[in-house]
Amino acid sequence: PTQQETYSFQAEVVQLLDLMIHSLYSNKEIFLRELISNASDAIDRLRFAQLTEPGLDKDETEEELRIHVAFDKDARTITITDNGIGMSRQEVMDNIGTIAKSGTREFFQALTGDQRKDATLIGQFGVGFYSSFIVADRVTLTTRRAGQAAGEGVRWESDGRGEYALETVERPQRGTELVLHLREGEDDLLNHHRLRTIIQKYSDHISLPIVMPADGEEAGEDTVVNRGSALWARPKSEISDADYNEFYKHVAHDFTDPLAHLHSKMEGTYEYTLLLFVPATAPFDLWMPEARHGVKLHVQRVFIMDDTGQLMPNYLRFVRGVIDSADLPLNVSREILQSSRVVDNIRSSAVKKVLRLLKDLAEKEPEKYATFWREFGDVLKEGVPEDYSNRDEIAKLLRFTTTKSATDEPDTSLGDYVARMKEGQDKIYYLLAPTPAAAKGSPHLEIFRKKGIEVLLLGQAIDNWLVTSLPDFEGKRFQSVAQGVSDLGAMEDETEKEAGEKAGTELSGLVERLKKALGDKVSDVRTTNRLTTSPACIVADEPDLEMNLMRRMQGSGM
Ligand code: ADP
Ligand code: MG
Repeated sequence: PTQQETYSFQAEVVQLLDLMIHSLYSNKEIFLRELISNASDAIDRLRFAQLTEPGLDKDETEEELRIHVAFDKDARTITITDNGIGMSRQEVMDNIGTIAKSGTREFFQALTGDQRKDATLIGQFGVGFYSSFIVADRVTLTTRRAGQAAGEGVRWESDGRGEYALETVERPQRGTELVLHLREGEDDLLNHHRLRTIIQKYSDHISLPIVMPADGEEAGEDTVVNRGSALWARPKSEISDADYNEFYKHVAHDFTDPLAHLHSKMEGTYEYTLLLFVPATAPFDLWMPEARHGVKLHVQRVFIMDDTGQLMPNYLRFVRGVIDSADLPLNVSREILQSSRVVDNIRSSAVKKVLRLLKDLAEKEPEKYATFWREFGDVLKEGVPEDYSNRDEIAKLLRFTTTKSATDEPDTSLGDYVARMKEGQDKIYYLLAPTPAAAKGSPHLEIFRKKGIEVLLLGQAIDNWLVTSLPDFEGKRFQSVAQGVSDLGAMEDETEKEAGEKAGTELSGLVERLKKALGDKVSDVRTTNRLTTSPACIVADEPDLEMNLMRRMQGSGM
């Protein structure tokens, strides 16, 4: 062993640990779920590495891949061991002791100091490894990366208060061993039945065997305490909602139950299984350029790789879960995936199924759909310009705030809008405005209000992109109320038309004077009968100009 070296945690880690221990204590047993989840990930990564790194397959492959959980009553420890990929010294330093997750800063800004609210946030952020400090006041991690020499083992130890020690140790076996030295008062965990119950409750879906010594202590015959088969490969009738939820938490690294899931086995030209989830809360990195896609590709139950856009399009990047193919080779590479007909086929049917799941959710559970829309609506909107072949299906899923909405919440679908259209109305009208308040005060709406015509209020930059890339909905074209001479066509009655023409002649002198005064600052000045209380308003000729106008209003705080 070399000399021990001491390092400091990243400042955020200390803050997070403190917060976590207090906020999550009432649910302390989740530490075991998190550590087993990590062990399972490490074994998945080993299996994949063995397929691609030739040297690794000779590394103790005879040994069965498994996760081992034991306890020692006298030493007051719980030990979790896996024979997965392990970590090098550098990996330990990078992964344990720092929070590499994107969105960390945003996360800390969002904290309120309210324990209940913060616990939810921590859940969303995901605490993983650090949850061991909920029950332990000292944690010792010993690991060796697969493929490295026995002399290159690493021991990491910390009391979670700000520093950790690292040393190089001899470790003949590959993988990671984690020893939790329990806090005072946590002795109830030193119990075979208790640990077994926790494992069955949270980790039964793990597809590897989780073994415990017969009585939980080091001696005795090992017994497998979980079912140890891949959840998605089991018949649906044998899977409870709780099983699905725990599986989701494992694959998504989330603490919150999902909103909905779909599980289907496809047998046709290609054979594959989909187990996909719609989360209830957006991850912190949803809007970051490096945002993770959430679907894990498996080939015949073996984890192959995380999706980098081949399995789910960008606008469905929030979907989490597993796709397991029976037709791809185990040593499939990213390059092969990019040009694989199998993958194209799986992707297009997975996308259709997710869109149908969302449609069902919208129809059968509108409250859940409202949650979905709040969290992911703006991401789904990207699908309209992005996915031409599913554009109509996506359009039906969109929700808007309109002049008839009860609140500022987007509660109206385009289908609702069309159903409420006035006699003679052949267009879907919209107004771009930076805020609902600005929209409501807009003079452009006056004539629409007077005639009782509903107008979509669009507030996001992407909305403009949306309506310009969606030529129509059920044959009804989109028309900005602030653009050009928006002609109300058949909805204008004769007297209005006459009044308009009359005003035009009477006010021609004023119009001429205004044109002269404004010069080339405007392209035209004209009379209108669209205003009922405001004397004048500005209209734009083209969508781009209109966007510009909206941004200026935003800037001036209107
Ligand atoms: P997450 O699992 O969401 O990445 P964790 O805090 O649970 O976050 O783990 C942080 C990282 O530490 C993991 O991504 C992994 O790289 C590493 N790690 C944790 N446990 C193990 C393990 N048993 N074997 C190998 N690497 C591990
Ligand atoms: Mg984890």
